[in-house]
Amino acid sequence: MTSSQKIALALAGVGKIARDQHIPSCEEGRDFDIKAAISRNGKIEGAENFESYDAFLQNRNGIQAISLCTPPEVRFDMAKKAIAAGLDVLMEKPPAATMGEAQALAEMADMAGVVLFATWHSRFANGVEPAREWLSTKKITSVTITWKEDVRRWHPGQAWIWEAGGFGVFDPGINALSILTAIIPGQTIVEKASLSFPANRQQPIAASLKMRSAAGAPISAEFDWRQEGPQTWDIVVETDKGTLRLAKGGAELYIDGKLTVEGPDREYARIYTRFAELVRTRKSDADYQPLRLVADAFLTGERHEVEAFIE
Ligand code: NAP
Repeated sequence: MTSSQKIALALAGVGKIARDQHIPSCEEGRDFDIKAAISRNGKIEGAENFESYDAFLQNRNGIQAISLCTPPEVRFDMAKKAIAAGLDVLMEKPPAATMGEAQALAEMADMAGVVLFATWHSRFANGVEPAREWLSTKKITSVTITWKEDVRRWHPGQAWIWEAGGFGVFDPGINALSILTAIIPGQTIVEKASLSFPANRQQPIAASLKMRSAAGAPISAEFDWRQEGPQTWDIVVETDKGTLRLAKGGAELYIDGKLTVEGPDREYARIYTRFAELVRTRKSDADYQPLRLVADAFLTGERHEVEAFIE
């Protein structure tokens, strides 16, 4: 395959993120051609549409790669089958429902010689790489994460998100953790967590985490899905040489209050550029530290029951 040839792609799970980001990014980009879609309800115009995943795998003429845009609890089986079929695999975040699944997939992909890309879309936000670079020459003294949004606005009708394995407020919270682990070096440790579960739900609607960086800096995170009005997706890093703030989920970077980086949203365009590069160079990219932090928050978390959530 030459770099000018488009990579034939299948997309599984034609839901919100597939429609909002994956399909437009592939259509606008130079690297991928969506040749097949697998979804029980959604369809992609111009692609061969399958309702059954197994039927697709038996008729995957010439398809080289697949993007899994389904919820995390079904990702493992889909990824496992795709790897066994020799397809290169892109996984939406979070990459799997458990660390065990995620690690097993990395091993399977390695043994099968296929590319596995566990995406963290927030890591591709405009401010994140410049933030990592700026911080690399500073001593970090503290990190404060505030990730507060309205679940009714961003996850309408998504019943799976409240079920066991659905991540609850960690579905957006893991985006913050993916940025955190991209901009500060080493393994972050969860020391304490407090999780608020609505009386009628299996997953938390809010979470409060106390963590520590590998170098010993305190890190706090507040995740809350009950935020009406203005939404907040902020990370503030205090250092020996000033204050860095990533706002709007990493889209904007401020140094000592001055807006330094902004621009149009290119997260998924960059994801597909990166996936093409991985496919063409036969390399995988699967960092599971954000998922491990969520798992550790559940392992250490105190449970608090809060008011039932009625959508
Ligand atoms: P969604 O709107 O519920 O869409 C997911 C799609 O997956 C559904 O349309 C469904 O298609 C398919 N699906 C659902 N349950 C399934 C099951 N049990 N077996 C097989 N297919 C199933 O969810 P989404 O918001 O697109 O989220 C999907 C993933 O993207 C999640 O991991 C989420 O964290 C991530 N993500 C979402 C956003 C966002 O803004 N929503 C942003 C970034 C990342 P059919 O019913 O047609 O089969």
